[in-house]
Amino acid sequence: MTKNYTLPKLPYDYKALEPFISETQLTLHHAKHHQGYVNGANAIFEKFDRTRKDKTDFDIKATYKELSFHIGGNMLHGLFWKNLAPAGKGGGGTPRGDLAAAIDEEFGNFDRFKKEFSAASSSVEGSGWGALSYCKETNRPLIVQIEKHNTNLYPGFPILMVLDVWEHAYYLDYRNDRGKFVDAFWNIVNWDEVGKRFTAVSK
Ligand code: MN
Repeated sequence: MTKNYTLPKLPYDYKALEPFISETQLTLHHAKHHQGYVNGANAIFEKFDRTRKDKTDFDIKATYKELSFHIGGNMLHGLFWKNLAPAGKGGGGTPRGDLAAAIDEEFGNFDRFKKEFSAASSSVEGSGWGALSYCKETNRPLIVQIEKHNTNLYPGFPILMVLDVWEHAYYLDYRNDRGKFVDAFWNIVNWDEVGKRFTAVSK
């Protein structure tokens, strides 16, 4: 039995990430923007069901492109909410355990990783995401710039951590200063969650 996407609940309340992400910013981002991707994907499923039943056509190229955009948006936001936590209550600090060791091995130390990830996120062209991924063939943690929600994603590479750098993620709090938002992000990273994702894919 098929079903539609639903907006996942946040694992904290809308005020919980202040002062790094304001209540208004987080509310709009989750309840309007993320909901928009859920609705967008579901509308395409409805189009599939309707046109296949009626044996009518739809614009294949445009629809599948739009579908990848909405599904990518829904999936990335779901990961993003979970890899954030309130500062001092699970958020911030540094990675631990196997993840910390893998970051040190690949980047030299955490500060170098942080510098590269911040620069990669700040410099994503247009709307997109900074992501930490992992290549199982080479055992390397890998920083990835994802444009929009669906361009530059590497097939089969699991995502360990994401940072949304669309303007809708920070404009109310930081205006056009994406770099300031990227700096604030480090105070609310849920390293337990990122570490769990790493352990799950690297064993
Ligand atoms: Mn977003």
